[in-house]
Amino acid sequence: MNKKNIFAEINFLNKTAVVTGGGGILGEAMVAALLDLGANVAILDLNYESALAVVNKNNDLVGNALPVETDVLKTESLNNARELIHRQFGFVDFLVNAAGGNHPDATTSDEKPFAEIPEEAIRFVTDLNLLGTIQSCQVFGLDMQEQKAGVIVNISSMNALRPLTRIPAYSAAKAGVSNFTQWLAVHMAMTYSPEIRVNAIAPGFFITDQNKFLLMDEESGELSARGQRIIGHTPANRFGEPGDLVGTLVWLLSPLSNFVTGVILPVDGGFSAYSGV
Ligand code: NAD
Repeated sequence: MNKKNIFAEINFLNKTAVVTGGGGILGEAMVAALLDLGANVAILDLNYESALAVVNKNNDLVGNALPVETDVLKTESLNNARELIHRQFGFVDFLVNAAGGNHPDATTSDEKPFAEIPEEAIRFVTDLNLLGTIQSCQVFGLDMQEQKAGVIVNISSMNALRPLTRIPAYSAAKAGVSNFTQWLAVHMAMTYSPEIRVNAIAPGFFITDQNKFLLMDEESGELSARGQRIIGHTPANRFGEPGDLVGTLVWLLSPLSNFVTGVILPVDGGFSAYSGV
């Protein structure tokens, strides 16, 4: 690589990106960065209104945005989205799998011990995070197989490295996402093309709608004991901001990371490095 042109490598004009969960808090920041760099971005979300809101917030940026109501748990819905994207933009170059999250019913508490977590709650969380990621890779991976090029970035979690207390299904599902990321990186490179790369980002702790009730007191807004422990264990001494993920995402999608595949990158303010001592 010519070092003088290092930043010219980060230009996504004429590239098409799919961001699942693109209407969510972290997805929105990633969509905005990709549009800013000139990509065409399909925002796939179960909640069409939130996907549309992201388009409306970013319509002054360089790239083009397409909101698509999609359920990542239904192959037919993903196939329909793919057809629409082909008509609008052409083949998919980048896939970012940000649809995911926990569910309060799948969280243990004094009132709800582990043995009483309902089957539906466990299934909801494992399906949303793991099955949804695998199916999206199956469908949009086809474009990459055909073009013999492409980049996938999955969104894993700190829980994949070492599980936090209280969220067993989410932790197990994200460990599955990390493991699957490595599997797919090897499979794509060795079966179709070394120009197809698959990596994951493992975000640290970001305050969002899903985890607010665990990290903060809902009424006072004060940090919960759990929230305080997380900050105490984060050398950066703060929660992440959605924009903190963007640099890593852009680097993973760009040719600057051409020789990087099958890695799970923590973006966590040092949480995973700190032993607590
Ligand atoms: P979010 O709830 O704001 O966004 C998730 C989006 O996914 C929502 O817009 C939702 O409508 C969409 N979605 C839900 N089910 C879907 C389905 N079946 N098909 C398509 N879309 C669906 O959550 P977020 O905090 O932005 O999280 C994004 C990703 O980052 C998730 O995978 C989450 O597990 C992961 N993550 C978040 C944190 C954090 O601290 N917030 C930390 C680590 C990992």
